[in-house]
Amino acid sequence: MKMKKLFYLLAIFAFVSCSSANEEKQIIILSTNDMHAKIDDYAKVAAYVEKVRSENKNVLLFSAGDMFSGNPVVDKYPDKGYPMIEIMNKIGYDYGVLGNHEFDYGQDFLVKRIEQAKFPILCANIKIYEQSPVKQPEPYVIFKLDGIKICILSTIQVEDSNGKLIPSAHPDKLKNIDFFQPVETELEYKYLREKCDLFISLNHDGIDEDSILAQKMPELDIIIGGHTHTLVDGMIVNGVLISQTECYLKYIGKTTITLKDKKVIDKKFELIDVSTLQDENEEIKTLITKCYEESPLNEIIGKAGADFDGKENLGGLMTDAITSVLNTDIAFQNSGGIRIAKIEKGDISRLKIYELDPFDNEVILFEMTYDEIYSLIKNSYRKNSKYADLQVSGMSYNVKVKAEEVIDIEMYDIKSGKLLDKNKKYKVGMNSYIAADYKFEHADAGKSLNITTAETLEEYIKQQKEVNPKPDRTKIEKTE
Ligand SMILES: [Zn+2]
Repeated sequence: MKMKKLFYLLAIFAFVSCSSANEEKQIIILSTNDMHAKIDDYAKVAAYVEKVRSENKNVLLFSAGDMFSGNPVVDKYPDKGYPMIEIMNKIGYDYGVLGNHEFDYGQDFLVKRIEQAKFPILCANIKIYEQSPVKQPEPYVIFKLDGIKICILSTIQVEDSNGKLIPSAHPDKLKNIDFFQPVETELEYKYLREKCDLFISLNHDGIDEDSILAQKMPELDIIIGGHTHTLVDGMIVNGVLISQTECYLKYIGKTTITLKDKKVIDKKFELIDVSTLQDENEEIKTLITKCYEESPLNEIIGKAGADFDGKENLGGLMTDAITSVLNTDIAFQNSGGIRIAKIEKGDISRLKIYELDPFDNEVILFEMTYDEIYSLIKNSYRKNSKYADLQVSGMSYNVKVKAEEVIDIEMYDIKSGKLLDKNKKYKVGMNSYIAADYKFEHADAGKSLNITTAETLEEYIKQQKEVNPKPDRTKIEKTE
């Protein structure tokens, strides 16, 4: 009898454990990338995440990088970036990857934000030296969820800056840190496939790199990417599911992975359009409202007499501020650093200045010759571009391009209308990003004027009281 009872018990046990092994399990990963501190829609996102969690057992929430830079109420908060992490913590992000804009506030603030975050921020292609206050992040994590072993591997994008691989950020903010090619780095971790049931690359490399990664690394099940602000609606490359949700919380990515016997048997991706969501989380909504209402950026500092529309108008305004307030002959502003499309006619708040120019770049002064200015403009020409990269004050220029090569640049003094003087040295102001990142000849090492470009613009608008757009100063002339 006793034996028989034991046999039945064993049989039941075998049946139960067998059936649970055969059971299909689902993991849902919600993801956002390139939020750039745009917190406005987080009350909706929070309500949606809550709903998915209430309806499903295994739900994860990921950030694919660039949490910061793009909303002054967060970026200019006295403790820079604090409200963003506060909100992300409340919503319960599980994992994140370092994005290039995570460095924008400087390394000391990055340390504070990483410590504040209740979710680990990963990155494999980075080596942080002792002299930096930032701690070396984990390259990957492996954890268990409902019996499924999940591995997340992360990397950040890099680009060549004067022979060094760095993420797209101000080089001064990247001191004592080395970066490596992301795809090559991820390939070194192929062996992690053996250690997990679900292998994820959560990266900030951009869609081109993600496609290459998928081709070279079919060991991955999914890639959740960011950086290029692309809408990648669950593209399959070499069997790997790739997604990216554009930017600014316009969408939430929802990846559903089905596993059986710990093997991935199905993966699908769905884009959730945040503008169609109705419900809002009250707690998060209150946090967001408070952040805006209490911001010192609401003060009106002057007036726009007409719309400033596009890079030329806005770049003209930004560079006129430098020549006027800091008394330089010429000033340059890179188009990539002009972060809004328009300033509308009417009151200008301080907030608008920081939306336009969020980067905290200081003005650097150079004494430059005609040839040096020529080399700066020449090297700033971006192939196939329709507009000039460098907006300018104090002068105008006309770039002549043949077969995508610059063949000549005409440079005129804006006041006299005459060509620039080949024998004169000009006082040229530019932001510290151009000074550090652009290639150009300069005998003068340049010196900081200890004022940011945004502070200069604020000062200019206060002095002028009303500002108006000026005619375009740059031209690209193409001949075949
Ligand atoms: Zn990025």
